Amino acid sequence: MARYAKEDIDRIRDAVDFVALVEGRTELRRSGVGRMVGLCPFHDERTPSFSVNVDDKLFHCFGCGEGGDLFRFVELTENVDFPEAVELLADRAGIQLRTEDEDPQAAARRKQEARLLELLDRTCRYYERQLWSAAEAGGARAELQRRGLDPDLLREFRVGYAPSAFERVLTASRHAGYRPEELLAAGLVQRSRDRRDRIYDRFRRRITFPLADRRGRILGFGARALGADQKPKYVNSADGPVYHKGQHLFAAHLARKHAARVGEVILCEGYTDVIALHQAGRRNAVGLMGTALTPDQVGELRRMASVLVLALDADAAGRKAMLKAAELAAGSGLELQVAMLPDGMDPADMLVKRGAAALDQAFGRTISIGRFRVGQALEEADLQTAEGKDRAIADLRPIFATIDPGVLRMELVQDVARRLRLDPTVLGPLLDGPGGPPARRAPEPAGDPTAAVAGAGSGAATRSGGQGAGSPSRPAGAWEPAASQRPSGPASSEDPAEAELRFLASCRAAGTEAASLLGDDRLAELFAHEPHRQAAVALREWLRAGTPPPTDDPLLAGVLRRLVALAEQVEHPSVARAELDGLQLEFAAVSRRLPRAGAETPALQVRRQALRARIEALVGTLARTARKG
Ligand code: ZN
Repeated sequence: MARYAKEDIDRIRDAVDFVALVEGRTELRRSGVGRMVGLCPFHDERTPSFSVNVDDKLFHCFGCGEGGDLFRFVELTENVDFPEAVELLADRAGIQLRTEDEDPQAAARRKQEARLLELLDRTCRYYERQLWSAAEAGGARAELQRRGLDPDLLREFRVGYAPSAFERVLTASRHAGYRPEELLAAGLVQRSRDRRDRIYDRFRRRITFPLADRRGRILGFGARALGADQKPKYVNSADGPVYHKGQHLFAAHLARKHAARVGEVILCEGYTDVIALHQAGRRNAVGLMGTALTPDQVGELRRMASVLVLALDADAAGRKAMLKAAELAAGSGLELQVAMLPDGMDPADMLVKRGAAALDQAFGRTISIGRFRVGQALEEADLQTAEGKDRAIADLRPIFATIDPGVLRMELVQDVARRLRLDPTVLGPLLDGPGGPPARRAPEPAGDPTAAVAGAGSGAATRSGGQGAGSPSRPAGAWEPAASQRPSGPASSEDPAEAELRFLASCRAAGTEAASLLGDDRLAELFAHEPHRQAAVALREWLRAGTPPPTDDPLLAGVLRRLVALAEQVEHPSVARAELDGLQLEFAAVSRRLPRAGAETPALQVRRQALRARIEALVGTLARTARKG
């Protein structure tokens, strides 16, 4: 990288007025010593989370995670690479640059990669021209029009058409000075199966959808067949030095800033699904590139937003894929939602059949992955017999273990009760399962409250203690089989991390007053995750002083970034709302301690019951306020 002399780079750093440079993009105000804050120039936001370190000439955004020095700032705002940023800033500061000798191998690699990117871009431009002007592309134009896709948007996505001839791209590129190995490396041509020395165009008679990196540079293509006779229906670029299968998401460069703003990214399957969603105003949509979701892609989605909306196909395979994706994303900290489109339509179908407004509306009504999973479990269950219902309850219990107390949980219990034709007050405790709230468990013989409490405290205690297992008055049959089938128990599968972040986000959204909810005495109990506890301390200071915390700890910065994005989407932020999230966290913390509470058990159970009552009362108050508002 040492293309320019280090002294020159240092001289530029010293000479450039960084605050003036940033203020060309966004308004800054002073906030503490040597610090300024403003609205982020790289994503849309309402509350400033972009901060500038004036002396070190560094910037960082807690909203979208962008950050770096003055060169990085220019790379991002001017969409240039590092050497170009150096040149631009040298011009600005009036500094004459001297070049240094670069490591010849690195220089060659960089040059080669730049040539491949240039080749891919000129090929993309060629496909685009073909789509809009070639007579042969009439069928492709008609197909895109039949799908109701807006030509302006197709141009923005740089959709194109690869003609049916075997050597168009090959010949034109060779005339422009590209070698066959370069065309192979760019994934634009392939070798003939019979004559290995012969190569020909990889994409023929297909609509081409370019895949770009975050700066919008073309890395490869996905191409859809035009005729029913063409196999396979989709062809993607081959892996090479710039394109890596399973690492990229279609349209991520277009969706990124919108996803950061709304704190949510939509994932669908097809290229036209993505374009349809952008057309409906859902500009935070990205697509899979013809593969099942990979861990790399989950990481990329996680960097884009904190909520992932799955909009995969509604057929049986799509639903399976959805649950699979949910599993993969579960450990990532992403909050999962599912878009339910009517009649098994995908977003592209929906645009054609119902129009952009209806498609947009459908995405205003996403459901949580918990609700989706409950629906799926009920669909697969046999609800005619008592045994079938017991199995359904056993299947539902681990799902309910992931859903915190609140309105959603109450609603789901009622839904399930209706389907199982059981009274919700009977069903609720059955779904709570081992470790669930004892007071709502069915009648125990009066007279020995401690025995009842100990027996109901956890499935494990009941089994090992032996007593109570044969009690005829307890609905044991419904939950004991599950306890033995799932030795780890549902409580341990619950990940409190999301609830912790949600609470912090509500505090941030509620503003200064919420700092009082983050008292030191509470933090140790509320936060099971040390990084979240540290973030709570940093956030408390942030709320009190109005100054974002220092960013030298990348882990802390990452957590703050997530909660800032989450805070942007809190509806009707208020201290009461934040308090509710805090109570739910406390409820979960107490529930986690219960199975191993020993002598403390009765006290904790009383506390848990009181928390539940306060939560339900506060939910009621907030619901009434929301209706009035
Ligand atoms: Zn930002």
